[in-house]
Amino acid sequence: MQYRFSERVAGMQSSVIRDMLKLAQGKDMLSFAGGLPDAKLFPVEAIREAAARVLTDRAAEALQYGPTEGDRQLREWLCAQAAAAGTGATPEETLLTTGSQQALDLAVRALTEPGDIVLVEDPTYLAALQLFGVYGLTVVPVASDADGPLPDEVKRLIQAKRPRLLYAVPTFGNPTGRTWSTERRRVIVQLCGAEGVPILEDDPYGALRFEDGEREPSLFTLAGSCKGSPVVYLGTFSKTIAPGLRTGWAMGDATVIRMMAKAKQASDLHSSALDQRIIVQLLADFPLVDYLRDVAREYGRRMDLMQRELASHRIEGLRWEEPRGGMFLWLTLPEALDAEALLRASLRQGVAFVPGAPFFAGVQERNTARLNFTGLDDERMVKGIGLFAEAINEFLAR
Ligand code: PMP
Repeated sequence: MQYRFSERVAGMQSSVIRDMLKLAQGKDMLSFAGGLPDAKLFPVEAIREAAARVLTDRAAEALQYGPTEGDRQLREWLCAQAAAAGTGATPEETLLTTGSQQALDLAVRALTEPGDIVLVEDPTYLAALQLFGVYGLTVVPVASDADGPLPDEVKRLIQAKRPRLLYAVPTFGNPTGRTWSTERRRVIVQLCGAEGVPILEDDPYGALRFEDGEREPSLFTLAGSCKGSPVVYLGTFSKTIAPGLRTGWAMGDATVIRMMAKAKQASDLHSSALDQRIIVQLLADFPLVDYLRDVAREYGRRMDLMQRELASHRIEGLRWEEPRGGMFLWLTLPEALDAEALLRASLRQGVAFVPGAPFFAGVQERNTARLNFTGLDDERMVKGIGLFAEAINEFLAR
């Protein structure tokens, strides 16, 4: 049998980096490469109890087929959260999905045609770039400064390119950890609203803010209400409870949500009702806000430790930006250093990380790297950064 594969999927680049990391898997690697929350911090006991209660009290409902839009109680809970943050949303303006990755997929399917243009920050989330490629979109990067995308550039590109979408991770972004200022958020929401360009706000990390204090409002909140909003908000429980529960959501104008639900129906009927019921039960019984404060503080402490360790090796030309939340530290390596070549050397030392180049939609900055600081305990983190620094120094000495 000779299969003929679709250009769409067969044409996807298998990344050299992914292949390298795959080869290194399971070899007791000290890995800064993943984007995984620390499994040791999962609220396992509370999830166990919630699952047991669901299967004791409401097994039929949890194990039966359910509506495509997802569990109504969970959608109501999400709407109450949105209302507390300042945006009215109804369950009809909310769709539960299999992680926010599926929400992103459905939004792109509902809102674009092959050949359309999507504006992105540069660098941006790699799996979003891959998804845009699968759907035949042309990705156009927008120049940014420390506050976020430059409004004049966004305006110019909207007028010159007529994009169908702006995709953004405005809070503790992946891979950079950057966060847009409140004022810039306001301007971009206003601008895209006026120009009729929908914004996909992907927000998996917003709840992982290291310190209490002022929070930038989401773009979705700034838009005010779902009806007629330019913003489609994509959320997830992956970083706040556990990614294995595969539960995310989209919120936005009811017409968009209905189209996304239509696309979802053809794809998987609905997301796991059992997982959704477990989350509803957990939210009723477990102090999620307190738990998240502790998790975020712990991640902040590890981020501090990573920075201290990196600084202690005094590598000339090594820079990074300090994130205020999330899971990643974005490094600029000494100019002459190619991060992919460095990865090869560093894997031999037993340390993995992700070179930055593939995250770029425009010109690839090859001397960049993304380090995850949530996956390793202190001892392994210190050891890993030591070996990483050694690999850099060896390279620089060549
Ligand atoms: N968006 C971004 C920016 C991410 O970093 C991730 C997870 N790595 C996702 C979406 C997808 O997360 P999930 O499907 O687990 O909700």
